[in-house]
Amino acid sequence: MKSPIREIFLSAQGEGPYVGYRQLFVRFPKCNLECLYCDTPKDWGPQSKCRVETGPDKFVDYENPLSSEQLLGVIKLYERVHSVSLTGGEPLLYAKFIKELKSSKFPLYLETNMTLPDGAKEVKDVVKYVSGDFKLKNQCDWKGRYDKYFNDMARSFSILRQTSFRDCFCKIIVSEDIDREDMMHAIDQVKDCITELILQPVTPAGGVEAASPKLLLELQDMALEKVENVRIIPQTHKIWGAL
Ligand code: SF4
Repeated sequence: MKSPIREIFLSAQGEGPYVGYRQLFVRFPKCNLECLYCDTPKDWGPQSKCRVETGPDKFVDYENPLSSEQLLGVIKLYERVHSVSLTGGEPLLYAKFIKELKSSKFPLYLETNMTLPDGAKEVKDVVKYVSGDFKLKNQCDWKGRYDKYFNDMARSFSILRQTSFRDCFCKIIVSEDIDREDMMHAIDQVKDCITELILQPVTPAGGVEAASPKLLLELQDMALEKVENVRIIPQTHKIWGAL
């Protein structure tokens, strides 16, 4: 099977409990959501090339779309990598393709908005790490369908829940105008499926205001009533200027 891929590059994970680990990032194009604070380029048009980093300042262009065998071959070129981050956009738009990456040299680390439960079912036996967002009502343009998306996110967490094979954690983005009740309702859906909850202060974009330390500590205290492990972790790659 083939899939379009925007780019493949080496960096360190910038978010969540695996922050700092060396990863190979496979960035898929397009997303099914429109989050207000999104910092991912949306200009995926007729892009025929996938840029692959093969060494410091060394790049090779692959023709799009790539086959799963080609991607597995690219992954094999690397050494000393913790995991392969499947990111986007929204990687679960390409769930059938991801399912074919089961024999990857390094474990698969899925970064997803959790709104595609059918895709979650496809990949549940091949991804070892799940970084799942739970988006709140005022964070995206839901086009009046938040209830449907809310149920879809809850279902995806249930499908990709933590097991002895898989680590699943939840990330909630926090801005100053966060709705506390909405956040607690979301936590109720995921609390039995995750190893930990990450409160990630939003990196201001699209007019979304940063959360104050006081608010973050208050939310952490509220969340700790429901989940044993709750950490506040910002986007660290923005601090040191990495991709
Ligand atoms: S889910 Fe991620 S990639 Fe998609 S719009 Fe939201 S922030 Fe952007």
